[in-house]
Amino acid sequence: MESLKIIKKIPFIHCAKGPDACEECSIAQAKGLSFALIRVYLRERTSARPTTEVYVGCRRVVGEYDIIKRFKSKDDAKKYAIKHRIEITFD
Ligand SMILES: [Zn+2]
Repeated sequence: MESLKIIKKIPFIHCAKGPDACEECSIAQAKGLSFALIRVYLRERTSARPTTEVYVGCRRVVGEYDIIKRFKSKDDAKKYAIKHRIEITFD
């Protein structure tokens, strides 16, 4: 398995530098979190992209991810998850 799709709360991100090094990043971070469909890559990190933590079975994996789609609300995210049988994390 090389990548997996999951829906979880993801911060708004500008680039991989992070809010300490990049002003645009702190502006983005101030927007908070929103539910998003993401693809998490389960291979070695290159640190060029932000990472997130997911569970594969009971194994905790930290992988780079791409945002495929952002949802306007938790309900939208939930409906999409059910319709497309995609795992959703609410915390
Ligand atoms: Zn940035």
